[in-house]
Amino acid sequence: MKKVGVLALQGDFEAHGAALARAGAEPVFVREAEQLRSLDGLVIPGGESTTMLKLLRYEGLSDPLREFARRKPVFGTCAGAILMAHAVSGPAQESLALMDIDVERNGYGRQIDSRVATIDPEPEFLERTAPGTLEAVFIRAPIIRRVDPGARVLARYQGDPVLVEQGRHLAATFHPELTSDGRVHALFLEKL
Ligand code: GLN
Repeated sequence: MKKVGVLALQGDFEAHGAALARAGAEPVFVREAEQLRSLDGLVIPGGESTTMLKLLRYEGLSDPLREFARRKPVFGTCAGAILMAHAVSGPAQESLALMDIDVERNGYGRQIDSRVATIDPEPEFLERTAPGTLEAVFIRAPIIRRVDPGARVLARYQGDPVLVEQGRHLAATFHPELTSDGRVHALFLEKL
């Protein structure tokens, strides 16, 4: 069984652990760099990216995570996608820069603008997983403003990319761990 870490400093790591277990992987809640050694992949959950950045620095985890990402797949959701982006605006902040995408934080507006949307994923996503629309839960979500031409957009909402794959990494601006649809986690596990 694949062992998949979930960064567990802050945010909704528990829900990702449950989603990974449903998808057939063994979740490991990661709080120390040591733990990365035995993992096949890592999920960076949603939460508050500024807080997560501070905790990453405090725990000395930023460089070990960058190093891990050079070898193994990383999947970032919402705040996790913000941490994975190359450039962050709204306001600007540092990131791990694991993917060549730029994001604007809280791009859809403040808390009141959180929503559940039914989206039609791109044909590639459906071919690699299973047919059907996707329930996308957005919570103070970022908007992906730029995607490297070599990256693949697997789903869009209102024209903006919301699920992007670049090489071994995956980023979603919504929360697939909060629905019973396991296709996005299954897609990530396929990459390990
Ligand atoms: N708005 C948050 C941030 O900027 C992300 C929200 C989320 O992860 N649900 O970090």
